[in-house]
Amino acid sequence: MLAIVFGCQKFHDYLYGLLCVHIETDHKPLETILKKPLHTAPARLQRMIMSIQRYPISVSYRPGKELLIADTLSRSPLPDTAGEYEFHEYNINTLHTLPITESKLAEFKEQTKADPALQNLIKVVQTGWPNNKFNIPMETRPFWNYRDEITYDDGILFKGSKVIVPNSMHLSMLKLIHAAHLGAEKCKRRARDILFWPGMNAKIDDLVNSCTTCLTNKHRNTKEPLIPHYIPSRPWEKVGSDLFEFRGQHYLILVDYYSNFIEVDRLRQTTSEQVIEICKSQFARHGIPNEFISDNGPQFSSHKFHQFSSQYQFKHKTSSPYHPQSNGKAERAVQTIKSLLQRSILEKCDFHLALLEFRNTPSNDILGSPSQRLMGRRTRTLLPTAENLLLFKIIPPSQVQSELKKHQKTQSYYYNKQAKPLSSLQKGDKIMFQNGRTWLPATIAKATEYFRSYIIITPEGQLYRRNRKHLRPIPKKDVLEPESDSDDLDDYLTSLEGEPQETTINGTCEEQGREPSPPQLRRSKRKTARPYSYADPYTLRF
Ligand SMILES: [Zn+2]
Repeated sequence: MLAIVFGCQKFHDYLYGLLCVHIETDHKPLETILKKPLHTAPARLQRMIMSIQRYPISVSYRPGKELLIADTLSRSPLPDTAGEYEFHEYNINTLHTLPITESKLAEFKEQTKADPALQNLIKVVQTGWPNNKFNIPMETRPFWNYRDEITYDDGILFKGSKVIVPNSMHLSMLKLIHAAHLGAEKCKRRARDILFWPGMNAKIDDLVNSCTTCLTNKHRNTKEPLIPHYIPSRPWEKVGSDLFEFRGQHYLILVDYYSNFIEVDRLRQTTSEQVIEICKSQFARHGIPNEFISDNGPQFSSHKFHQFSSQYQFKHKTSSPYHPQSNGKAERAVQTIKSLLQRSILEKCDFHLALLEFRNTPSNDILGSPSQRLMGRRTRTLLPTAENLLLFKIIPPSQVQSELKKHQKTQSYYYNKQAKPLSSLQKGDKIMFQNGRTWLPATIAKATEYFRSYIIITPEGQLYRRNRKHLRPIPKKDVLEPESDSDDLDDYLTSLEGEPQETTINGTCEEQGREPSPPQLRRSKRKTARPYSYADPYTLRF
């Protein structure tokens, strides 16, 4: 490089103002260095390159044996040219431009000295890179691709203007980079700005992905694409249900997937028995549904409800806790009824009349109203209605089905725009699960019969059911901490395998109303009745 600068300055009168100056060199790296942006060049070269910016030079490589004139002249130099040109101005101190404290700098120098790979690298840099990658020591080979940019200055190696970090300092540098617990991309950007070692980006990824603090405080997972549920072909074939509280009163709603007809009943008690009693009376009116969908509340996850479903021969499906989408129909029905209740109180009008109006309001021209779809007729309301409009008139089921399908398609289209599928998990996978705003560690105990739904086990031995959306796998390798001793979770999981099915869900309703008990270490296989409360109705207890 110095030769090019010298040449340009020496022949300035001939070169300045030319449209193109072609330079041939036997130093291959120069070709690439001069093609790259100025700031990526080693600091030592940057000022030299800047000083020849006024010449439109292009540099190409040619082996020394072909550069006959230059080669000959270099072997027969003039006896005295020294002193004519001074280049001391180029000996800038690169180290002073570094944003590093004195003590850190000393540590860098010391560790670089102690690092065999970097010592080899220094030798290679000082003596020149060989033509073949395999002629340099093994531990120096990772630097081969960056050979044009690597320089050595006062005990420290640089790639461009970035410090090459010795192996023993990788960990401490990683910790510094991630001190603010920023995301992987931000950390990489920060690191790339000042530091370098081969494979640094991957190490940062590993660190961020396995950082407990970050895993505990992460945002939610991205949405997963909607699973299209099957559309029933007749009324009351598929029914959703949910409990809700309004002004201190508890209600149970049942909603028909085919007609969107909502039944709402006030609960005297929030026990399984009460819920079953109301379901029975509704089933006596509309028939027993094929499929009954609810959340995992204690009234529905109890043994009594299980018995009820087998006695009445319907399929009971439950949604994962905190994942109401799977019970979306009932959730929306709850909102509808709540706003009806709210309005009837505010405007001091009859709630039942409001409900009657709702049931007779057409969803659209094709679908008609919930009453029309469920009962095949409009029901009489306070609105003056012609007699013939109150007569039976069935809306063809095929028409309803295709319209519902169309509606479902539109819904998924907009929802799935921002959704992407998450990987499936296996038994034994270490995961973090979302618990309110934080994420806690657990292990996958097993996948449930439902899509994307898993039973997980916490280190305390508590079992929970969670949707995939609320689970995040922990990367296998941990950068900062050594692998922890294998715990006895596997044994525990194995011991649970052999247990009879009935003990897996053991919600009892007798002790309703008591405060929830704090989580306890449960290793015993003894079947016990435990209190539940609304605060945490989703724990599956043993
Ligand atoms: Zn972190």
